[in-house]
Amino acid sequence: MYVLLRKAVAIRPEDFTALHSLPDGPFALLVAIVLSQNSNDRNSIAAYDNLKRGTGLDPRRILEIGNGLEDMIRRAGMVRQKANAIRGLARLVLERGEEFLRSGDINEVREALLSIRGIGMKTVDVYLSLYRRIPRFAVDTHARRIAARWGLIRPNASYEEVSEALLNFFGPKRADEAHRLLIAFGRTYCTARSPRCSECPLRPYCPSAAASARG
Ligand code: SF4
Repeated sequence: MYVLLRKAVAIRPEDFTALHSLPDGPFALLVAIVLSQNSNDRNSIAAYDNLKRGTGLDPRRILEIGNGLEDMIRRAGMVRQKANAIRGLARLVLERGEEFLRSGDINEVREALLSIRGIGMKTVDVYLSLYRRIPRFAVDTHARRIAARWGLIRPNASYEEVSEALLNFFGPKRADEAHRLLIAFGRTYCTARSPRCSECPLRPYCPSAAASARG
């Protein structure tokens, strides 16, 4: 499936807010992941660039601008929730230094991030797999939907169950790339409504293909 996925879809940095922000460091990456929650990447990248222009992604400046933060990230949607999560990240960096995100003890960093309101497992797992190269599979709606259609998980599986199933399926070395391949694939072929099964290159291997093609 991995090889077929790589042939079927391309991963372009301009389609992924996290990749767009990666050169700016771990704080910027976490801000970008927060902005991309429930948003399309065009809007979250625009919000990210706006925030970068306005604050230089300086945590102190982000905390100083008050509601200006909400204005700068408006395009990403869910503005109040995302602004509060970004403020929590900025406080963490001011307290512990960006070095903590760069190379701090994984369990400590995970705990500190999860204690911030608005930061969930998916956000932490994207950071851990993309930046820290820890074998974690970040689960979003695309990954969950596709795992279900491939028969890898039971209905109502927990986040951890889906993450484990996909990690085992793709292997730890491919987890980070496979996460983005599934997003690209979920946007292109295996869409939530009316998946394009008849054109899907994975159709011969997919247990849901026939049912989805009829539906
Ligand atoms: S055959 Fe249909 S359900 Fe299966 S992976 Fe392809 S698009 Fe998704």
